[in-house]
Amino acid sequence: MTHSPAIGTVHLVGAGPGDPDLLTLRAARLIMHAKLIVHDGLIEPAVLELAGPGARMISVAKRRAHHTMPQEDINALLVREALAGNDVVRLKGGDPFVFGRGGEEAEACHAAGVPVKIVPGISAAMGAAASAGIPLTHREDASIVTFVAGQCKGLTEQDWAGLAGKGRTLVIYMGVKTAPQIAEKLMADGLAPDVPVAVVENAARSDMRVLRTALAGLPDLVIRAKVKSPALIIIGDVTARENAALARVALEAMS
Ligand code: SAH
Repeated sequence: MTHSPAIGTVHLVGAGPGDPDLLTLRAARLIMHAKLIVHDGLIEPAVLELAGPGARMISVAKRRAHHTMPQEDINALLVREALAGNDVVRLKGGDPFVFGRGGEEAEACHAAGVPVKIVPGISAAMGAAASAGIPLTHREDASIVTFVAGQCKGLTEQDWAGLAGKGRTLVIYMGVKTAPQIAEKLMADGLAPDVPVAVVENAARSDMRVLRTALAGLPDLVIRAKVKSPALIIIGDVTARENAALARVALEAMS
């Protein structure tokens, strides 16, 4: 497709799970040279600080007020800025195409004739796995790994049968609030109540917490430990491996 040179490009950029060292070089370069950054609430200040002093920053989420700009407004903002000739760095936590609504933003840009480039990022699952010492796959424990959204349209009607269990790892994004329904749903599907579970809060950040329990104890753990978003719930035997235990010991020694 040809386009007028006056139109800016929208870069949908994955910012990784938090630590700026986990940005791709491409993401870091784009942030450093950006004139306009449109970012989510989940982006760590240390990542935003890589931007130059003249960069215009627009946040589309005010985390404290729990108020997020509607997706249509974000799409319209990206298109408007690009059509006005501005290159946009649209910074998203983790990877833009994993529960990041990057697909919708890319579609809106395409529909308006705005060129889009995608820069992948380290998704929370990989960030959490690395920092907590939990391998998502393992020759002995898991050869299947699934990412699901714990908060989505029609959670209870969704068919999760077979996603967790022997030989499988299930990684649940956005599952803190719905942890009781999730545990219930999985056990109703036949998953044993003693399947090991890890909750990784603030993965790859200085205030990371790794909490372990069995599936039946998940709802209680989330309340007792006051688990807060962002957190991932990882379900499967890999969460109980020895290297995971070692990572926990190392963390406890640090704190
Ligand atoms: N695009 C993002 C996911 C956005 S959905 C990615 O690829 O990671 C937001 C959810 O991601 C949160 O509710 C949480 O479940 C998870 N998440 C994001 N950052 C996280 C972090 N640092 N630690 C743990 N979970 C995180």
